[in-house]
Amino acid sequence: MTRIILLVALIAVLYYVIKRIAASWHPNNALDPTQKKLVQCNSCGTHILESEGIVIHGQYYCNNPQCNPESTQNTPHDD
Ligand SMILES: [Zn+2]
Repeated sequence: MTRIILLVALIAVLYYVIKRIAASWHPNNALDPTQKKLVQCNSCGTHILESEGIVIHGQYYCNNPQCNPESTQNTPHDD
């Protein structure tokens, strides 16, 4: 009878250990959902990743220099 109790206890411990190992293989913080969020460029309308966008005055802009309002103000004007 004690063998059966020991066997059940051993299975329970093994189950607990395997569950802990399996949980460590899939950490919850592996992918940050905010890094995959798409935003729209306020100038050209292109959808870009929020992490790659440029935020100016609360508006998102893509990496295109023509879309960046701060860089277009400094564009030389040739006649
Ligand atoms: Zn743009």
